Amino acid sequence: MTGSLMKLLPAAAVAAISIVGCGPAAEQGKLADTLLLKDYEPVSIFNVPVTKVDKAKYPVIDMHTHDYVDTPEEVDEVVKIMDACGVEQAHIMQCNWISDTYDVVAERYAAYPDRFKLWFCLDYTDFDSPDWSDRAIAQVEKYFEMGAIGIGEMVDKGLGDVYACPVEGKGIRLNDPKLTPVLKRCGELGLLINIHIAEPIWMYKPVDKHNDGMMNGANWQVDTTVEGCIGYNALMDMFEEALYSCPDTKIIACHLLNMSHDYPRLGAIMDRHPNLYLDISARFGESSATPRATKAFIEKYQDRILYGTDNTPSLDMYRSTFRLMETADEHIYDGYSYHWANSAWDLSDEALEKVYRTNALKLLSERAVSVASSKSTADASMCWGGGDF
Ligand SMILES: [Zn+2]
Repeated sequence: MTGSLMKLLPAAAVAAISIVGCGPAAEQGKLADTLLLKDYEPVSIFNVPVTKVDKAKYPVIDMHTHDYVDTPEEVDEVVKIMDACGVEQAHIMQCNWISDTYDVVAERYAAYPDRFKLWFCLDYTDFDSPDWSDRAIAQVEKYFEMGAIGIGEMVDKGLGDVYACPVEGKGIRLNDPKLTPVLKRCGELGLLINIHIAEPIWMYKPVDKHNDGMMNGANWQVDTTVEGCIGYNALMDMFEEALYSCPDTKIIACHLLNMSHDYPRLGAIMDRHPNLYLDISARFGESSATPRATKAFIEKYQDRILYGTDNTPSLDMYRSTFRLMETADEHIYDGYSYHWANSAWDLSDEALEKVYRTNALKLLSERAVSVASSKSTADASMCWGGGDF
């Protein structure tokens, strides 16, 4: 029976035909009508290369993770994982949904000053008061002295920077004039900004049978009808305004700016803003649906893309990302895919080394220069906890 004829028949009739022929048992035939997408766990049938990548090809700096542990002993375990797969350093983003205060986190990781670097949230307390920008700049300078790398992870999915701590920034956006002097001060100090803008486009589409990222779209849907919530395109316009407002401040849009479905548009934004960088974190599955387009984009913008994970550290998680970046393996189901199989990107060695490490080192060295120029060399090494960049 041809595919086109199959389409003309009701599903029940098709099931009946296959059962009458040499098809499956009746119960298995019915499964096609009852299996839920969330329960679908296919196993690859393809005899294609399966490459084991135990350790990354170059030393790795994970520029986007969070504080997923509670004790110094658990930190020891994370370090063992990093050692085993070639991650030399991890950058921990502050967010109200995942971590303790900066001081508590700093204490937890204090035994490994070179392996973990911390980022902080802006304090939006009394944002409406006229002196907020001055207080925020003082906060930035305080964390700079304490060795923080930058502000992050800011998150605006439509309602403002609502994941900030200790006070959420509802309605406060990166292009707010009150933030502009703060962002500029970060640029002067060589501090970075990491911001999560919007979500993948599926989350703004109707949750129906046509949604290309159905399970993800359903689980993380953004309700733009909520008062004060702006949509995907408005968020991107807002973000570009912010980028124009502080051209000397390096801003990292995490998750590939949630635009890996439209690389031409993402590339145009990159071209307009030389101060814009991207991290890949938490978008490996999304990007592996279109491996050739992903490779072409990363190769083209290889000087401004950073490796990151955003996920709970584990050997399997890290190795899954390395396999996607380094190999040409296809049709991968390894527990880190959505309802499609991932295909790997086969990046060039040149791009790979930059994304894994060199681009991050360059950005971090700008901060070190700031430290050296504003303080003594001895103070600089103290700020870095003895770090060597
Ligand atoms: Zn994150």
